[in-house]
Amino acid sequence: MEKSLAFALAQDQTDELAGFRSLFHFPKHAGKPVVYFCGNSLGLQPVTAKDAVLQELEDWANLGVEGHFAGRNPWLHYHKLLTAPTARLVGAKPHEVVVMNNLTVNLHLLMVSFYRPTTKRYKILMEGGAFPSDQYAVESQVKFHGFEPDNAIVELVPRAGEHTLHTSDITAKIHELGDTLALVLLGGVNYYTGQAFDMQAITAAAHSVGAKAGFDLAHATGNLLLELHDWKVDFATWCSYKYLNSGAGGTSGVFVHEKYAQDNTLPRFAGWWGHNEQERFLMKKGFQPMYGAEGWQLSNAQILPMAVHKASLEIFDKATLPKLRAKSLRLTAFAEFLIEAFNAEQDQVKINILTPRNPAERGCQLSLVFDKKGKAIHQQLTATGVVADWREPNVIRIAPVPLYNSFEDVWRFYEILKEVIK
Ligand SMILES: *Cc1c(COP(=O)(O)O)cnc(C)c1O
Repeated sequence: MEKSLAFALAQDQTDELAGFRSLFHFPKHAGKPVVYFCGNSLGLQPVTAKDAVLQELEDWANLGVEGHFAGRNPWLHYHKLLTAPTARLVGAKPHEVVVMNNLTVNLHLLMVSFYRPTTKRYKILMEGGAFPSDQYAVESQVKFHGFEPDNAIVELVPRAGEHTLHTSDITAKIHELGDTLALVLLGGVNYYTGQAFDMQAITAAAHSVGAKAGFDLAHATGNLLLELHDWKVDFATWCSYKYLNSGAGGTSGVFVHEKYAQDNTLPRFAGWWGHNEQERFLMKKGFQPMYGAEGWQLSNAQILPMAVHKASLEIFDKATLPKLRAKSLRLTAFAEFLIEAFNAEQDQVKINILTPRNPAERGCQLSLVFDKKGKAIHQQLTATGVVADWREPNVIRIAPVPLYNSFEDVWRFYEILKEVIK
């Protein structure tokens, strides 16, 4: 790697994914596209999203209720259009995934089925400082079953002086909890540190003590290569508006391992869309879940957010995840390289990277801790056309996203950072 604009431009020149940038709308600052490093929070809008939504609005205008059958993409089975591309994203068989609801809603629905505490086995292992929605979901599930959160929730915390977790410490904790452990529920990538967990090893450890393993993949889907089926993950869910670029509050994806596809003994909160579709409209008593993940659906498909999601997934299918991940490794390494260069060049501010240095333990995000003036620097960056996010007390998260960010974006970030420090 080289510390030069020429190097960055040369990388972009030979990047076979460079053309995907033009498929997204970039917000502008002073007439120029911003350096958008916030795709881990809200992905950019695909240019095709608007027509995808307009098509459904037109079909609704022209067909009314008939759109369920006569629409160009009949709404009755709209969610099924999302199944195959979703399965490809997470390494699942098609019947192991379904798109529905929102992330936290799905987390609850899945915990209804997979967190089944007994007086002996009732503990949940999660990350200390997990995303707040996950904390609240878990806390309320524990209380719902009559347990005390302080007793039932076990949090993983880094070793003294460290910021991220060792896989060996996670698996050791699982073994220590043994037959008191009901569920391991972690993020695939921690939202704050950007650490990617070894989901395969964690799942194997959970299963070895008789516990279930579930993952919140909000920061992992569309970011990492996932093999949920082969890793034997019990369940997972993710949102579509971060790396999947499907719009604020967009729909969510769910994975339920094939081994539960016909397990009608699992408790679940049911709705008509999860019922045997051959008989869905017979309006009969007696819930019969559909085979696989579709059996967890409650409601009929949310056509407008799903239309955006469909347009976005088509882009992922064209780019393909292995290529995206390969570019992501290089793009994030370039950002890391320039941040180290920045530290070496001046003495005013030092940036510590919280995110693991091992590329296998992270996605595209780097979480940067500023030893001083972090908030002021963030404000200046924002005022100069960099969109990155600030987390109290002193972290700026940057996510160079391989689908639409360029090496030149990373270079501009570095140049602007130097300007701001001056
Ligand atoms: C973004 C995110 C959420 C958000 O949940 P919603 O239900 O989509 O509002 C939850 N958990 C994690 C880990 C997240 O990163």
